[in-house]
Amino acid sequence: MSILVTGGAGFIGSHLARALLVRGERVVAIDNFNDYYDPAIKRANAAELAQHPAFTMVEGDIRDAATVDALFEAHDIRRVAHLAAMAGVRESMRQPRLYFAVNVDGTLNLLDAAQRHGCENFVLASTSSVYGETKRLPFNEEDPADRPLAAYPASKRAAELLAHTFHHLYGMNITALRFFNVYGPAGRPDMMPMRVMEAILDGTEIPVFNGGNIHRDWTYIDDTVAGVIAALDRPLGYEIINLGVGAPISLREFIETIEALAGRKLKARSVPTPPTDPPITFCDNSKARRLLGFAPSTPVREGLARTWEWFRGWKISIGQWPD
Ligand code: NAD
Repeated sequence: MSILVTGGAGFIGSHLARALLVRGERVVAIDNFNDYYDPAIKRANAAELAQHPAFTMVEGDIRDAATVDALFEAHDIRRVAHLAAMAGVRESMRQPRLYFAVNVDGTLNLLDAAQRHGCENFVLASTSSVYGETKRLPFNEEDPADRPLAAYPASKRAAELLAHTFHHLYGMNITALRFFNVYGPAGRPDMMPMRVMEAILDGTEIPVFNGGNIHRDWTYIDDTVAGVIAALDRPLGYEIINLGVGAPISLREFIETIEALAGRKLKARSVPTPPTDPPITFCDNSKARRLLGFAPSTPVREGLARTWEWFRGWKISIGQWPD
C-alpha cells in the first residue's frame, strides 16, 4: 500500500513525503523537475528522500495520461496527495495555457486514474487565491470564489469543480485543501520569504507591493503538512477546506521580522500591487479545526526564525555566506 505524492520534489511535496516516510508509509512521488525555479533545489529534495528505502521517485509529467496510469498500475496506490502544479500567480498570466494544461488536464489524469484504480482518498492542493478580492473577511469556504484574479486561481478553482464531478459520479472521497501562503525551510525561491532573505543577504533592491501595506496569512510548512496528513487519513466524501492560521500580518511587519533575524535592512522599492494579487488573505480555519483536528501551532516569528536558520545553514553549505 502506497501513498502517491504528486509534485513530490517540490516545496510542500517533499516536506509531506518526508513526514509520511517518518510515519512508516510507503511513498511514491512523481515530478517533472521543471525549471519554473532552479530544478537543482528539486533534485536536492529528491536525493534526500531517495535515501529512504520506502520512497520511490518517478520522473514524469502528469499531463501525460499514460504516465499517470502506469504509476497506478505499478504501485498499490490507495491514497493520493495531488500537489503537482504550476503555482505562480503572476507567471500564470504569461503562460495561461501551460497553467491550464498542468493544473486542470493534469488533475483530470490523476482523478481519472485514481477512480479507475479504486483509490480510497484523494487530497487536492488548492489555494486561498481562489477567493480573489472578496470583501468578506475572514475567507470562508461558503464564499462564492467565482471571481479569480489570474489564470492560476482560475485553474485551481476549475480543478476543485472537476473533483466534485468525480465525487458525484463515482463516489470518490476528495478533499480540496485551500493552502494559505505556505513558508518554511527549503521554501519556494519565487515567494516573498526566500526573495526577502536572498535580497537582504546580497544587498539587492526588490519591489514591494504597496509599500508593504498588503496582508498575508502565513502558514508554516509543518502546520500545512499536518493538515494534509489529517486529510489523507480522513475520507470525507467531497469537502473544500481552508488550511491557514487565521492571523494575517502586513508585508511590512513580515519584512521587519526577517530584518531583525538577519540584523540587516532590506532595500525595498514600493510598487503598486498588480491586479492579479488581492490586498489580503485571511483564513477562517474553523472547518479545518472541526473536520481535520487542524491546530496550527507555529507563530510567524518562530516560523521565520526556523526558516532563517535553515537559509543560513544552506548558504554556508554552498559557500555563499559572507565571512
Ligand atoms: P512547488 O512548485 O515547489 O511544487 C510543485 C511541484 O510540482 C514542483 O516540484 C514541480 O516540478 C511539479 N510539477 C509541476 N508541473 C508538473 C507536471 N506537469 N508534472 C509533474 N510534476 C509537475 O510548489 P509548492 O509551493 O510546493 O506547491 C504545492 C502545491 O500547493 C501546488 O499545487 C500549489 O498550487 C499549492 N499551493 C501552494 C501554496 C504555497 O504557499 N506554497 C499556496 C497555495 C497553494
